[in-house]
Amino acid sequence: MKQKISVIAPCYNEEEVVDKFYDRMSKVLKGFTDYDYEMIFVNDGSKDDTLDMLVDLANKDENVKVVSFSRNFGHQAAVTAGMRNSTGDAVVIIDVDLQDPPETIGDMVNLWKEGNDVVYAVRKTREGESKFKLMTAKAFYRLLNKLSDVYIPLDTGDFRLIDRKVVDVICAMPEHNKFLRGLGSWVGFKQIPYEYDRKQRAAGKTKYPLKKMLKLALDGMISFSTKPLKIIAGLGIFNIILSFAILVYALCSYIFDLNTLMPGWTSIMVTMTFMFGMLFIAIWILAEYISRIYDEARKRPEYIIRDRYNIDK
Ligand code: UDP
Ligand code: MG
Repeated sequence: MKQKISVIAPCYNEEEVVDKFYDRMSKVLKGFTDYDYEMIFVNDGSKDDTLDMLVDLANKDENVKVVSFSRNFGHQAAVTAGMRNSTGDAVVIIDVDLQDPPETIGDMVNLWKEGNDVVYAVRKTREGESKFKLMTAKAFYRLLNKLSDVYIPLDTGDFRLIDRKVVDVICAMPEHNKFLRGLGSWVGFKQIPYEYDRKQRAAGKTKYPLKKMLKLALDGMISFSTKPLKIIAGLGIFNIILSFAILVYALCSYIFDLNTLMPGWTSIMVTMTFMFGMLFIAIWILAEYISRIYDEARKRPEYIIRDRYNIDK
């Protein structure tokens, strides 16, 4: 029997690119005569015509499968749902906006055939992204690696090919707020980078506004590092040292009769505001962890599927 490749494309308000993506991806996949394939589109609660267009595709092409969420649950949840509904021996995760060229999949499949379990695409260049995005992304990946206990390759997104055995491991993970590119390294297995040039979006605007980017960055930090918690200890030690310094200063001015401590108001205010600042930062860090613990404890699903097309489950 032929082996099968599953392509997973999450879509959120992507009516401008869905058909373009389908055409280009079909051409590539039809070229793989040694493999069967399926294209799984996950409609992440789009408000435009994305779902209708996907259903049309599913009706005319049985290789197209659609999972449709009841509302927007986010990119990472969409990719997870795609993996859970896939049946291929290898799964390719790719954005629907054609920033990741479908034509590169051939090379990735070859690397997989050579015995690699995960082929993760590394962005050699990035076209058409704002300076701000490039800079923040670069800083984020570097900071994450400093903080994290596992090495998460620099400049990688979710574009990658994953062998079935690894997909099964990731799908079995119950954790919410997944940071898939981190989990992808955390699981181990035989991983290999594949360099490519990231293109401009074929059409439409980014569906990752700053707020979603920050949420993803925080998920990454928090699920792959407990160092932020330890910062609290650092702040505490710093405070103690600081209070000692103030004490020494007070003693000195007393002994040498500098007469500078008279009103005392400034020092009290400075210390108070500073301490409160520290305290709030510490509480905020705790809150970020606790909110995620709460998410896990509630055991709500990561996403809710409203409809499936061409998928019998
Ligand atoms: N996406 C999604 N849900 C969201 C946001 C984005 O499924 O809430 C999809 C989107 O349709 C695209 C992919 O995730 O296929 C990456 O998003 P986008 O291209 O907007 O991000 P960028 O490339 O700008 O970082
Ligand atoms: Mg994009």
